[in-house]
Amino acid sequence: MMPGGFKCPAGSADHIGAMQLTFKYRVKDKHARRLNAQARAVNFVWNYCNETQQKAFLDHRRWLSGYDLWKLVAGCTKEGLDLHSHSAMRVCLQYAKARKQQKKPWLRWRSKRSLGWVPFNTGHVAFRDGAFVFRGEVYRVWLDRPIPEGSRIGAGSFNQDSRGRWYLNVPVEIATASVASIEKVGIDLGLGSLVALSTGKTIEAPQFYRKSELALATAQRARKTKRARAIHAKARNRRKDFLHKESARLTQQFGLIVVGDVSPSRIARSRFAKSVLDAGWADLKQMLSYKSIRNGGSMLQVSEHLTSQTCSECGCLPPSRPRGIAGLRKRVFNCDDCGAALDRDVNAAVNILRLGLQTLVAGAPLKAGNPGLQAGE
Ligand SMILES: [Zn+2]
Repeated sequence: MMPGGFKCPAGSADHIGAMQLTFKYRVKDKHARRLNAQARAVNFVWNYCNETQQKAFLDHRRWLSGYDLWKLVAGCTKEGLDLHSHSAMRVCLQYAKARKQQKKPWLRWRSKRSLGWVPFNTGHVAFRDGAFVFRGEVYRVWLDRPIPEGSRIGAGSFNQDSRGRWYLNVPVEIATASVASIEKVGIDLGLGSLVALSTGKTIEAPQFYRKSELALATAQRARKTKRARAIHAKARNRRKDFLHKESARLTQQFGLIVVGDVSPSRIARSRFAKSVLDAGWADLKQMLSYKSIRNGGSMLQVSEHLTSQTCSECGCLPPSRPRGIAGLRKRVFNCDDCGAALDRDVNAAVNILRLGLQTLVAGAPLKAGNPGLQAGE
């Protein structure tokens, strides 16, 4: 799971507070056997819920709540189930929630082919000496981003991906900083380079984007599903890693970050195929948002309408501006009005920053302490 669903409880006046982040770690393969065993127990509980709910529906048109199911499960699986009782409870709650959301009388059965999932409750996983402890057993992970010392670990889960690898998703409460940098920046999520900053800098998308895209196309043409899946997973991991580093750097340097709302049609016209980049912009924006809060800063989103066409020097819409699909190839243009030579992407970033500052001055709705992503992101 992505580090999403952040919450920012009301902090004090100077915005010191806490927020919840989910850290994701790859669990070392030697633990797969133990996790697979518990995942089978999870499937058993899930299917028991499904069977019970199915029967309740067919016989009495009844809907069972997660706690109804949990009581039944606890009664019949006292012993012999290789699962923490609270994990079983979370499965019941999740089952009832999913059934309600999907508005179905019962759900699909979990089988050996279902991706493994082992939920755990708040306080049941501990972080000790660089490893995680669950039910008295130590789980070692690839610790690329250690969680801060003394963090409180919430209810999370072990999850398996389509390649059979296990990951640990741990929600952690993080204290947010109170003092942010006073530097501001506008960011254009461009196409040629990864992003252009209003400072004139650009951050190029690394070569692996293109390379994995080509490799993926080859594998797909040859109908090598397994290989395609591996390329996909690898590209996704490398992309995330890259975005994490860039967003950390940006949020440390800049206390206010303004980004454009990238339209899907613009992404579709990208020279990168969608499969590799797809969620890239959304991920980057989300990372910028929560890392800004963590560093005491904030991120704003503004409409990027016309930001690539308006001259950032004089504010006019010059006839020479880049327009349409042909305009995408026009990297540099001169403003007919003021004569400024403008880099298309940097020009857009400057306009985005200006728009962001305008909304701040105009007093656009900004929730105190959490001026992050717009609703629905
Ligand atoms: Zn101009």
